[in-house]
Amino acid sequence: MDIHAKLTPHFTLNELIRSARASELGIDNTPPKYVLNNLIQVCTHILEPVRAHFERPVRINSGYRCLALNSAINGSQTSQHMTGQAVDFEIDGLANYDLALWISTNLTFDQLILENYVSGKPNSGWVHCSLKTDQNRTQLLTINGRNKRSGLIK
Ligand SMILES: [Zn+2]
Repeated sequence: MDIHAKLTPHFTLNELIRSARASELGIDNTPPKYVLNNLIQVCTHILEPVRAHFERPVRINSGYRCLALNSAINGSQTSQHMTGQAVDFEIDGLANYDLALWISTNLTFDQLILENYVSGKPNSGWVHCSLKTDQNRTQLLTINGRNKRSGLIK
C-alpha cells in the first residue's frame, strides 16, 4: 500500500506509521495487514470523530510501532501501539485535558490516557487512545512521568 494513501478521509497511512526514531535507526516500520486494519478502525472511530467535532487538524505523534521500534523507545512490552490499536495525538492550541475529556464522554475506547499534561499549559503532553474490536475496557488514566492515576486529572 502507498504510504500516502488515505486510510480514512483525513488520515494517511504515513501519518500513522512515520517515526523519526525509526528513520534514524533504519527500522522498517511497515505494518502487516492485520495492523493496517486496526489502524483503519482507530482512524474511523477515534481520529475522524475528533477531527469532525473540533473542526481542526489532528496531529499524530505516534501510531503503529513495530517490535524493533517499540523496543528502541523503551515502550511497554504490551503496548497497543504494536498492534496498531493505539495512537498518540493532539490538536494544536487545544488543551489535551479538554481533548481527552471530550473523547471520554463521546467515544468508545479501550484505554484513554492523558499523558504528561501540565494544567495551564494547553500544549503540554498528549492524548493516548486505543480501541479494540470488542471487549473495550473504557479505562481512563492520567500519567505524568512515573506517576499513574485513575481518571482524567487536570
Ligand atoms: Zn501511546
